Amino acid sequence: MQEIQINCERVLGDLYTLREVGKYKNGVHRPTLSEADIWVRNWLKDQLNSIGFKSKIDGIANVIGYSPASGKKLLAGSHLETQNRSGWLDGVLGVIYALETARAIHEAGGHELGIDVFAFADEEGHFGSFLGSRSLIGQVTEKEIDAARDRTTGVPLRKALLNAGLQGVRRELLNPERYLGMFEAHIEQGAILEHHAKSIGVVETIVGSKQFKVIARGQQNHAGTTPMHLRRDAGRAILSVYQRLETVFSNLTSESTVWTFGKIHFYPNQPSIIPGHAEMTVQIRDPSRDVLGSLKSELQRVVEEEAESSPCDLEMKIESESAPARMDTDLISILEATAAKIAPLDYIKMNSGAGHDARTLSAIMPSSMMFVPSIGGLSHHYNENTSDEHIKLGARIYSDAAIAMISLANLNL
Ligand SMILES: [Zn+2]
Repeated sequence: MQEIQINCERVLGDLYTLREVGKYKNGVHRPTLSEADIWVRNWLKDQLNSIGFKSKIDGIANVIGYSPASGKKLLAGSHLETQNRSGWLDGVLGVIYALETARAIHEAGGHELGIDVFAFADEEGHFGSFLGSRSLIGQVTEKEIDAARDRTTGVPLRKALLNAGLQGVRRELLNPERYLGMFEAHIEQGAILEHHAKSIGVVETIVGSKQFKVIARGQQNHAGTTPMHLRRDAGRAILSVYQRLETVFSNLTSESTVWTFGKIHFYPNQPSIIPGHAEMTVQIRDPSRDVLGSLKSELQRVVEEEAESSPCDLEMKIESESAPARMDTDLISILEATAAKIAPLDYIKMNSGAGHDARTLSAIMPSSMMFVPSIGGLSHHYNENTSDEHIKLGARIYSDAAIAMISLANLNL
């Protein structure tokens, strides 16, 4: 076997090619199962087939490239679709790193080095939450697919799958026995690397997140004729919960905790009408299960207390909950050693504030992630960018680390 060498210009070339598919300003508009998205999935499938992979698109649009190698495989990849009118690197970077690593192994004749290349469907949640990776570990039911609709267009997932020629195609289930683990590269989507002036992030934990909805029901009425003491103002009840949570959360959280009241609605939302109904989302994220748990209990307590003192009825609903995921310590060590060799003192260990498919996969196999910097910390925006130098450095570290992970796992067999 010759020395395995990736081609950084080919990595950039592929990324720039895919940037044109669904191009929007400086970014890309490539929602799950759109024409552009289906084109890119087929492109990846063809690329993998051309290096001797058995690749396919499964019944929920995951692109799956099985390596012909024997021995334990590394599951490598990320996602291909984007948020609406969003960035050109979010997701696709990790897929191209995995593809280039597979190509370099193929060209060097390293046929015993097994790397399966995946593009997980709908990481960006157009139809649901991590549908592709959850389907691969058996967490998505047919009923969930029946009910899923594109959050922007309302098109049912069944119809989108039919249009893509995927109706009736079997959904793949992962066999954890096949794998030594998974490795995903991604843009950071934040500004921690820039802040520390480092080029590579070695991810230790992907934070967990919980999302709730607080609902207040009062009485809609005239804003001029209803005295303050007779009002049942749902808007005021929601804002009171908001105010108390700001104080309570500030006392409980660490530097890594974030919380967001991203959506507040008053009904009917008119200047001269007392809101009869109001809703607010509360989203919390943290790497610690304990912190997430205590924030949830505090939220419950505040809503209950508010319900007792308020003239309105208050209720709290859980919208979604995902636990924090620790990345595998052995895989982290290999990645760290590789980063130390190629870019000494130019990497840090950090947490991921965003959710990723590696979190889903960590339920069934050792998982790992690395980040490259996002310029200005900007992401989920069409101006999202990473310098070519960082893209190339990331590709080298990714492929060397991936090859080290596979070699080591098969040495230990
Ligand atoms: Zn992403």
